[in-house]
Amino acid sequence: MDKIKVAVNGAAGKMGRHVISAIAGCRDLELTGAVDLVEVGVDAGKLAGREPLGVTVTANLAELLQQGETDVLVDFTTPMAIMKNIELALSQRVTPVVGTTGISEKDLDRIQSWVSRYKTGAIIAPNFALGAILMMKLAQVCARFFPQVEIIELHHNGKIDAPSGTAIKTAQLIAAARREQPPRPESLEKIPGTRGGNLEGIQIHSVRLPGLIAHQQVIFGGEGQTLTIKQDSLSRLSFMPGVLEAIRRAPTVKELVYGMENLLEL
Ligand code: NAP
Repeated sequence: MDKIKVAVNGAAGKMGRHVISAIAGCRDLELTGAVDLVEVGVDAGKLAGREPLGVTVTANLAELLQQGETDVLVDFTTPMAIMKNIELALSQRVTPVVGTTGISEKDLDRIQSWVSRYKTGAIIAPNFALGAILMMKLAQVCARFFPQVEIIELHHNGKIDAPSGTAIKTAQLIAAARREQPPRPESLEKIPGTRGGNLEGIQIHSVRLPGLIAHQQVIFGGEGQTLTIKQDSLSRLSFMPGVLEAIRRAPTVKELVYGMENLLEL
């Protein structure tokens, strides 16, 4: 069986290094490229704390993809760079597997148009951790019975975008699943923003602190009771099985897949 050829963008980042290490540990995958703005010229294996892999970091994504040696581009970069990266990959008939967050509804429409134009699929997942995917699925079920809900997401203080992609996706799923939109409780904010942001009638609160990685609580409230679904990614390793699954599915994906729950049979 031919190996799937994978390039990693954001190779020197916290996620990129883990992805390189995970790919290097798989016999059916081959790392064919590593891209970042920093650590250029460094062997990707060294970046990931492994033996050298013979792939050095380059800063030029377009040049790498034009060589035609890449089937799948895994991207963990920044919200500012992601749209350009996705268009570049699709225009070269390379399937992007995107973990970078900060992608809006409007962005998804543009990605959909590129997917159609270049006849190449794309996988975008706000969260690759199985626990987080199940949390979203469970929240969808609970929303039918508990329409009043708020979301608290907590991340490390290096995360730029807020709220998290996972919180946005969770709120969208809840909004679509609940039978009624409850009236918003009255509030008088003495400090603006204290009640958090609002997406489709659901309050979202974002916490950014050192020591955290990625965590979320979805709190449902009903008469005399609350129900809390809580998920914690305690290590970036929690994202790797999902990333590897997406890479393996990528060659057969022909459309835009948004959310890992759409790849897994839940
Ligand atoms: P990080 O440590 O800051 O890594 C990002 C890397 O990308 C940095 O080395 C950065 O270089 C580089 N970069 C920035 N712009 C680039 C460009 N145009 N081309 C190539 N490389 C570029 O961040 P992280 O913690 O790995 O997270 C990366 C993204 O993944 C974030 O959006 C985060 O929210 C998301 N994330 C998603 C999941 C998921 O499951 N979907 C899980 C965790 C994180 P500089 O340092 O020079 O900027």
